[in-house]
Amino acid sequence: MTYDDDNIFARILRGEIPNDTVAQNDHALAFRDIRPQAPVHILVIPKGRYVSYDDFAANASDAEILGFNRLVAEVVRAEGIGLAEGGAGFRAITNAGAHGVQEVPHFHLHLLGGQPMGRMVS
Ligand code: C5P
Repeated sequence: MTYDDDNIFARILRGEIPNDTVAQNDHALAFRDIRPQAPVHILVIPKGRYVSYDDFAANASDAEILGFNRLVAEVVRAEGIGLAEGGAGFRAITNAGAHGVQEVPHFHLHLLGGQPMGRMVS
């Protein structure tokens, strides 16, 4: 699993491509998806070089994993979709590799909400 430093999210992290940033911390960045599939569609990405969720889960440091997850919580709260704040909920998904139909080879979590998302598996 080789990380491609020219992938579009690596370029976003280097500031070479604009993005609609929602929030960030030392370890992760959250920005709005350019092709939103729901009223709320935010991508949360680690700032480190991880290809996929399994790569991140296996190889990121505790601080990176904590920072990433705390940013997810912050975004969910700020968007008003979190159950803890009485929101209606959301879907969090990540695509990995060919079978997951992953387009950008830098780990990212999709946060989707603002409308009922429908069943994923019938
Ligand atoms: O999970 P997957 O890799 O298939 O999805 C990549 C996502 O990144 C897409 O939803 C696409 O709209 C988004 N994207 C983006 N900004 C870019 C390039 C892709 O938000 N510059």
